Amino acid sequence: FFNKETVDVVNDGTTIGKVIILKNITEFQQLDEAKTNFIATISHELKTPISSIKMSLKLLEDARIGDVNSEQRQLLQNIDDDTRRLLQITGELLDLAQVETGKINLNFGNTHPQNIVNYAVQAVKFIADQKQITIKINCPDSLPDVQADLDKTTWVLINLLSNAVKYSASKSTIELTVKRHKDMLEFSVKDYGQGIDARYLSRIFERYFKVPGAGLDKTGTGLGLAIAKDFIEAQGGKIGVESQEGEGSRFFYTLKVV
Ligand code: ADP
Repeated sequence: FFNKETVDVVNDGTTIGKVIILKNITEFQQLDEAKTNFIATISHELKTPISSIKMSLKLLEDARIGDVNSEQRQLLQNIDDDTRRLLQITGELLDLAQVETGKINLNFGNTHPQNIVNYAVQAVKFIADQKQITIKINCPDSLPDVQADLDKTTWVLINLLSNAVKYSASKSTIELTVKRHKDMLEFSVKDYGQGIDARYLSRIFERYFKVPGAGLDKTGTGLGLAIAKDFIEAQGGKIGVESQEGEGSRFFYTLKVV
């Protein structure tokens, strides 16, 4: 593997030639691949025991475990929250490793956008209810079906919706709209939350990027939007954001109409 760089040779303001610098980056490339494989293996290995902790917790909860005082109940709740978080992180790392090795396996199907919307809204209902946030849906019956990888697309929408909930105040509203633009459908999630400082807007889809100091909730990994971008672009769609600090944000992505 070579990295190619071209430098102009300038004499008195005129370009008199070009120098091509080739750097052998084979070792770096291999190191990078090794790292990605390592991440994939580790996250995969972690997923099973974490899932089983989660199952045991669920069993404990269902059995109503006799006498548990409020302090113990709180501790169980904390374990449950942290386990959910760990599962999310390992899931994101696995997705990331998949993306980095160029192995985004797409599984296309045709579906009405309402199916994607309803599923995603259902998935974030719990966290939205906790903050008494209303999600207004505008996705008319008359829209055509889309051609998409349904799991990945739903994952993206859940991510945008949960970010909107995370970065909005209690009792606010989120608008989820699906519109047709020529041969594409645009899904958009608009919130009236804290918005994003214009200085950081162009970096929001970078891996591990989090707006400095912005987190009401500091538990994010900064990976969600980076993976969302890979998932949407792999399907031939576009993803973007408009935002005004202090007023809110609108994230949107497009998918092909059948
Ligand atoms: P995270 O796991 O940190 O939420 P994301 O990739 O989903 O990672 O988002 C990256 C960063 O973009 C977040 O840390 C946050 O600073 C900012 N962000 C994302 N969505 C919103 C939103 N709806 N409103 C304000 N800021 C947002």
